[in-house]
Amino acid sequence: MRKFPGNNGVDKIKIEKDLLLDQQMLAAENRRILDRFNVKMIDIMGSVGTGKTSLIQQVVKQLKSNYRIVVINGDLDTTIDQERIGSCGVDAYQINTGKECHLDAVTVRGMLKQINLEQTDLILVENVGNLICPVDFPLGAHRRLMVISVTEGPYVARKHPAVFMEMEYVAINKTDLAAVMNVDVGELIRDIKGIRVNARVYPISCRQQGGLGDLATALLEDI
Ligand code: MG
Ligand code: ZN
Repeated sequence: MRKFPGNNGVDKIKIEKDLLLDQQMLAAENRRILDRFNVKMIDIMGSVGTGKTSLIQQVVKQLKSNYRIVVINGDLDTTIDQERIGSCGVDAYQINTGKECHLDAVTVRGMLKQINLEQTDLILVENVGNLICPVDFPLGAHRRLMVISVTEGPYVARKHPAVFMEMEYVAINKTDLAAVMNVDVGELIRDIKGIRVNARVYPISCRQQGGLGDLATALLEDI
């Protein structure tokens, strides 16, 4: 947690702690609702343009014959992602947050009320495009996946250690562009594991449909 100069710093830390506790309680309520209906939920995070929607499309393709899937798309505006997911033949619900840069447990609760949970096995949540703050707002998901891509450059993990410390699952997308972007995927993986030794990192290419089967299997293992 950041420290701020002066006494103000102490107050700020206390407020942040209280907010985090609130969010965790709200997320736990969501989890209880999901567990009551035996629905699994995965929270998919990542910056704008890393390929969250493309990844969800590919995961849906891998899993939809065995799981009844619903997708929640969080975005500031537009229904572009909802339409892209809808074209894969599963129900997609759009949340437009306006200026809010993350989803939170209360917003997702509103969606859970609209979804027929008895007819659902798996909910994939596409969080608002943002690498940093969604991590601080748990939704009650059984898994959290961070999607990064080589187009974010070689230092994305090293520059955001507090984010990657929280992430057990990380997908590195657009590996087909690694050479063009002059990014060493092996080094990115080492950076991520240097921050969190047990991180499970999956290099993928949504465009070339590489690595997605392994990722889809891993996401659903033991949940
Ligand atoms: Mg998207
Ligand atoms: Zn935010």
